[in-house]
Amino acid sequence: MIPLSAPNLSGRELEYVSRCIQTGWISSAGEFVPRFEAEFASTVGVQSAVSTMNGTAALHLGLKLLGVDRDHLVLMPNVTFVASANAISYLGAEPILFDIDPTSWQMDLDLLEEFLDRECHCDDDGTLIYAAAGRRITALMVVHVQGHMCDMPRLTGICSRYGLKLIEDAAEALGSTCDGKAAGTFGDIGCFSFNGNKIMSTGGGGMLIARNDSLVEKARHLATTAKTDPMRYHHDDVGFNYRLVNVLAAIGVAQLEQLAGFVSAKRAIANTYESSLEGVGDIRFQKSQVEVAPNHWLFTMQTARMEELLEFLNKNEVMSRPFWAPMNTLPMYENCHYVSRGDVSATVHQSALSLPCSTNLTREDQNFVIQKIHNFFGA
Ligand SMILES: *Cc1c(COP(=O)(O)O)cnc(C)c1O
Repeated sequence: MIPLSAPNLSGRELEYVSRCIQTGWISSAGEFVPRFEAEFASTVGVQSAVSTMNGTAALHLGLKLLGVDRDHLVLMPNVTFVASANAISYLGAEPILFDIDPTSWQMDLDLLEEFLDRECHCDDDGTLIYAAAGRRITALMVVHVQGHMCDMPRLTGICSRYGLKLIEDAAEALGSTCDGKAAGTFGDIGCFSFNGNKIMSTGGGGMLIARNDSLVEKARHLATTAKTDPMRYHHDDVGFNYRLVNVLAAIGVAQLEQLAGFVSAKRAIANTYESSLEGVGDIRFQKSQVEVAPNHWLFTMQTARMEELLEFLNKNEVMSRPFWAPMNTLPMYENCHYVSRGDVSATVHQSALSLPCSTNLTREDQNFVIQKIHNFFGA
């Protein structure tokens, strides 16, 4: 079976992990944690970063630091991995879901502006209120779906006009840029994931960055059980045990050394798919606007025959997966307000499937996948 998106551990991972084991520094302290954080920060072009045990934990911390609280509303796209919405729920807040753009599959900013303009108002102290529910909207969580991005300068403009805090779920977008600026660096807070199938992996892990360094320090504090003294058990808040351990940070340092190569591999794989599958059957591709340079984390295409093709590929040793179920179709979120014009989310969900695109996918294996798709469409 050709895997969908497998980890690529061909660098110094074993050497660095061995060093942790030989020295006994496997847990929360050790050289690799601060090194991973510093090297990650410089890779995306910020001052500081804090590592977390996974991307979901980073999102949870990030929303909390932006002041999201019980009964607040948070705006987000309807199409994402469920962790984005769950992080909002952990705080007792609720998402308002926005449909996606049919070509980029990112949050539809026209719908967003229309909603803010027509259905919301600011109360006396400047708090944004969703009129129909009489509830406060605190933040917007944008998700860079499949490593593509929406028009981020436009989105940051909208957020500042309405006094909305902006958090980026950049779990899939490490290495993507818009106007040359890295995903994760546009908002007040940016969150990343190093789960097994992401562009780089630590097994499980995440990272939080912020426009304001003091927020990163607050995140570090909260993620480390809000400990105020290195020796005495004094804590000044209900904190979390959310930090990444040294062994995993060691893998992270080794992965980061290879990140540029991973991004070019993903882009080359996407180019090959697009040039070899263009015009085959009714195949269409996810498209970014010109300002966006996606990392092409997970190559995903559309066809009306998605279900048949999915079954055909998986039977033929090619791992293929459908796209996430839209949030408004999940039992926990089906009653959330969904702002849509024609439910593009459903159309994309019913027609999209992902193809193998591991960074170490061989040319031979990719040709095999392409051949199978040609066979399926009788091309
Ligand atoms: C992977 C992912 C997450 C969650 O990251 P974990 O490290 O698995 O917790 C969140 N949002 C999106 C969009 C993701 O793809």
